[in-house]
Amino acid sequence: MAQITIRNLRKEFGAFTAVQSSSFTVEDGEFFMLLGPSGCGKTTTLRMMAGLELPTSGEIFIDGEEVGMKPASQRDIAFVFQMFALYPHMNVRRNIAYPLISQRVPRSEVKTRVEEVARILKIEAILDKPVGGLSGGDRQRVALGRAIVRRPKAFFMDEPLGALDAEFREHMAEELRALHDRIGATTVYVTHDQLEAMQMGDKIVVMNHGVVEQFGLPQQIYDWPASRFVADFIGSPPMNFLEFDGVIGVGGDHVVLDGQRISVPVHRQGAEGRLTLGVRPEHVRFSDQSLYRGRVVATEYLGTTQIVTLATQNGTIKARISSADRVLKDETVGLELNSRTLTIFAAEHGRALLSEANEGVLRG
Ligand code: ATP
Repeated sequence: MAQITIRNLRKEFGAFTAVQSSSFTVEDGEFFMLLGPSGCGKTTTLRMMAGLELPTSGEIFIDGEEVGMKPASQRDIAFVFQMFALYPHMNVRRNIAYPLISQRVPRSEVKTRVEEVARILKIEAILDKPVGGLSGGDRQRVALGRAIVRRPKAFFMDEPLGALDAEFREHMAEELRALHDRIGATTVYVTHDQLEAMQMGDKIVVMNHGVVEQFGLPQQIYDWPASRFVADFIGSPPMNFLEFDGVIGVGGDHVVLDGQRISVPVHRQGAEGRLTLGVRPEHVRFSDQSLYRGRVVATEYLGTTQIVTLATQNGTIKARISSADRVLKDETVGLELNSRTLTIFAAEHGRALLSEANEGVLRG
């Protein structure tokens, strides 16, 4: 089991900087997600943590020990890649046992540990089968077994479910999470899929262009995005952004939007000029009392809820409301924004202006 800390980690490939200056801590036993779009530097960060890539600068600590110069083989980490390469000429038992055999672990202990892992993964029945005829799921379990059997300090997984179809992927995600809960080993998991990250992670780091945008609990990241990028990347549909020219003073608790006063969480940081108000679709309600209006442009039926697209003075906005509510195309409705959950971003740099409500959580 391990706590892993990275501090000011940076990686340059020639003139290109893949990871700018990342800092975060993975606590012992956490299921920790590195999330971001393709090319943002997730894999490079993971590879540096694993010792497969040398950082240009910065530090990596495993259980308090600086390991930046230690090779991967001495960091006691198991890496699970997207493509599970099993040894085709060996049966399941030998595939799982292989890391122990190469470490010259005594035969009787190998047998005990392989059988223990097979029990955890519920693959006892296929232990003596060749790997050739196995289903995708079983191959994945065998590959995991080979990683678990070493009892490493931590597991690193790089998009392990990336090649699977949607239904199977969801099933394996649940299985991986359940497995983690059984063995409790620190796991660092790379994904570009925000749903997967929200569903599986104890904590999430969101990266963009080599920069850590935010790190925290899934709910913190969803409710209090630190930047417009995070707000847009997380959530489906993503957060709505209403652009306006305005002022929010230190201690400010409202903004004026389209002539309407809208309450916001108390702000400790002021800003003036072009601002962006962020609101999640489920925090937009229809209200006859509200003077802030929108015209219904489209509706999308999703079963218990529907997504209604509305045109407002400040741009297009999506509301998630009950499917039981009747909505007519082109009608104009009053819109109420839940004042406890609004975020204001400075349009200039896209960072959230801190409020008392979110100041603590943004720090993670
Ligand atoms: P993906 O999910 O597409 O792998 P990622 O977020 O994991 O994305 P990285 O693989 O870490 O991204 O790559 C970050 C950037 O660094 C990319 O632009 C990539 O092209 C570049 N890069 C990665 N490895 C090298 C390398 N060995 N040499 C040069 N550039 C590299």
